[in-house]
Amino acid sequence: MSSQQKTHNLGYPRIGERRELKKATEAYWQGKLSQDELKAVGKQLRQTNWEKQRDAGIDLIPCNDFSFYDQMLDMSCLLGNIPERFQGEHSNDTFDLQFKIARGVQETKDKSSPCSPSGFASEMTKWFDTNYHFIVPEFTKESTFQVLSTKVFDEFAEAKALGINAKPVLIGPLTYLTLGKVQDAKNPDFNRFELIDKLLPVYETVLARLAEEGAEWVQIDEPVLALDLSNEQRAILKESYARLANASGAAKLIVASYFGELRENLADFLALPVDGLHFDADRGYAEIDSVLANFPKDKILSLGVVDGRNIWINDFSRSLQILNKATTTVGPESLWVAPSCSLLHTPITLKNEPKLDTELTSWLAFANEKLDEIASLRNLLVDSDSNQDKLAKNISAHQSHSNSKRIHNPEVAQRLAAVKDPDYERDSTFAARQKAQQEKLDLPLFPTTTIGSFPQTKAVRSARARFKKGELNAEQYDQFLKEETKRCVEFQDNIGIDMPVHGEFERNDMVEFFGEQLDGFTFTKNGWVQSYGSRYVKPPVIFGDVSRPSAMTTYWSEYAQSLTKRPMKGMLTGPITILQWSFVRNDQPRELTTRQIALAIRDEVADLERIGIAAIQIDEPAIREGLPLRRSDWAAYLDWAVKAFRLSSCCVRDDTQIHTHMCYSEFNDIIDSIAALDADVITIETSRSNMELLDAFVGFQYPNEIGPGIYDIHSPRIPGIQEMEKLMHKASALLPIRNLWVNPDCGLKTRNWAEVEPALRNMVACAESLRENA
Ligand code: GLN
Ligand code: ZN
Repeated sequence: MSSQQKTHNLGYPRIGERRELKKATEAYWQGKLSQDELKAVGKQLRQTNWEKQRDAGIDLIPCNDFSFYDQMLDMSCLLGNIPERFQGEHSNDTFDLQFKIARGVQETKDKSSPCSPSGFASEMTKWFDTNYHFIVPEFTKESTFQVLSTKVFDEFAEAKALGINAKPVLIGPLTYLTLGKVQDAKNPDFNRFELIDKLLPVYETVLARLAEEGAEWVQIDEPVLALDLSNEQRAILKESYARLANASGAAKLIVASYFGELRENLADFLALPVDGLHFDADRGYAEIDSVLANFPKDKILSLGVVDGRNIWINDFSRSLQILNKATTTVGPESLWVAPSCSLLHTPITLKNEPKLDTELTSWLAFANEKLDEIASLRNLLVDSDSNQDKLAKNISAHQSHSNSKRIHNPEVAQRLAAVKDPDYERDSTFAARQKAQQEKLDLPLFPTTTIGSFPQTKAVRSARARFKKGELNAEQYDQFLKEETKRCVEFQDNIGIDMPVHGEFERNDMVEFFGEQLDGFTFTKNGWVQSYGSRYVKPPVIFGDVSRPSAMTTYWSEYAQSLTKRPMKGMLTGPITILQWSFVRNDQPRELTTRQIALAIRDEVADLERIGIAAIQIDEPAIREGLPLRRSDWAAYLDWAVKAFRLSSCCVRDDTQIHTHMCYSEFNDIIDSIAALDADVITIETSRSNMELLDAFVGFQYPNEIGPGIYDIHSPRIPGIQEMEKLMHKASALLPIRNLWVNPDCGLKTRNWAEVEPALRNMVACAESLRENA
């Protein structure tokens, strides 16, 4: 057995097949579950997950991949890196502390209580290019570290008690420092990498203790190896692993890289003085030969051939080719078969998807199916006569996939081939369009609008749920939505919003709503993936060529326009956002899928114009998050992303106004691409940054119209007239006032009417006062 290839897993989804973790955590936060009860749910989930992996035939099973909130936050707790505002007398118990750091603590009346320090939550940001978000570690010049939480030791012991010698997973020191942020008022320019000497002793202690407790392997994740690194970071990498390898005693270390090619970091990675290296053979496919050619003789190679980021079945023939080659190079005893990264990013099982038909299911693999693939691949490696049923099934699924009419639609291909350069261009320059739009729309200076959605109240959500369950028939539901829309349009008319919207009451989600009406999409029933903390998402699945069988939004836009004389803004989601927030095909480039979506949106834009809608907003909040991990890959992405947007929008007359909207975005380094979208109006989020996000537009001398958000919709606070005016004065000093719009930061769907009504009244009053003084 010991001379055979082993099976290896890097991490398993923690949320539970039935979202048990979410339900228990939220119940705990609401005081409906005790701490012991919540901990018991966690323990049960870990046991289930470990046993599942063992039964699937995985040799190296991870622990400490579980988390009640986030694995980076767990690292901060392990390393004792607690932001000062949360350091109270009782901060040694990191269990409640983790939730306080993640969610913030409201100012309490009782300032004397040491148990409840007040403080704003730590920042949250995207984990590389996934849709998972982690809690950003905070550093100061005075940061100190010491082993604080015992979670990793407890989980290791827990697995051991179940007879599993698990492999603890830690986030490595370079990744930990790189992804953190200096929050030091006294030393804002402090270089956080200087903390490495204070940090490493804690890692050394942790490793020594894990070794003492009997850990055979410890996995240390360094996904930053897929990023552009400075010389300083590279030096830290070298120094860290020289020291950690020394400190780990009997425990062997495997360093895991994933999420991308290693490029100029590859040599340093291969030279790390550890016992094993994990390589992402999916994203790093182009480097496999180079990895094998230079792989050190004395190390284990864990090859991540099964894609941990997507939901498609593995290509056994291709993987076996790679794995056989690797076996020849490193020897069977030194090769582990693995997923490309942790399975955290995939849904758990296909077993709970009764609505997906057998053909579609045969093309898919969620976490459990991926474990099975890993075991089958290893078995096929060890004995090429074994698992023939699995191999045959895999090959036939690929055959049916490549021939399926459900996937390949010749009409879509023909249409794409017929796209010509002028299809990416408006008829006239922005200056000419602005004139034509002004004549047609006749808007005042500082026109007011909103971003699209209005409160999704309990009544709205319950009507939708009842309609889905069949308790409301189509006619009743339609009537309900019409009443909601009417009330919303009348409200906007009454308070004097210049460009109203219909309110989006018919939409559950800005991507799902479109996906449900487009060909080439499907939806799961239980395919949840953690986005952050207790928030999970169920991304649509784009499995085939995308096309639009019929109009998607004209019904509601036409109805809403019939209720008012003011120009109703049509509301669409852009192609890049639809792509980014879905599971996408891996049998064609993302760019091509995006262009297919763009054509579908283009048809919708044309239909809206045809029924008399004079302004159409195409939301693209996800443009920035689609940026590749490497700077040198940005230009190519931005080029096709901009083209996709233009393809979706450049079919209208000069006097039809195209809007776009982007939230939570930093624009500085992509401003030329934002300008290249050539939307007539862009609305952005700026209120929380006190208009700082506008700087990019100012520096660039952005020529088109722009609505810098002045109402922070993330907060229940109702902004006052004067504070909004102040923000607009700031904007007016920076940009030509005839280009400025007055609007909130983002859609209002998470707010309630009691907040929205006064806030929007104030916003209109703000615009009126600006006009008087202009
Ligand atoms: N039109 C969408 C809304 O108002 C935009 C949401 C977004 O940008 N995230 O909800
Ligand atoms: Zn937004």
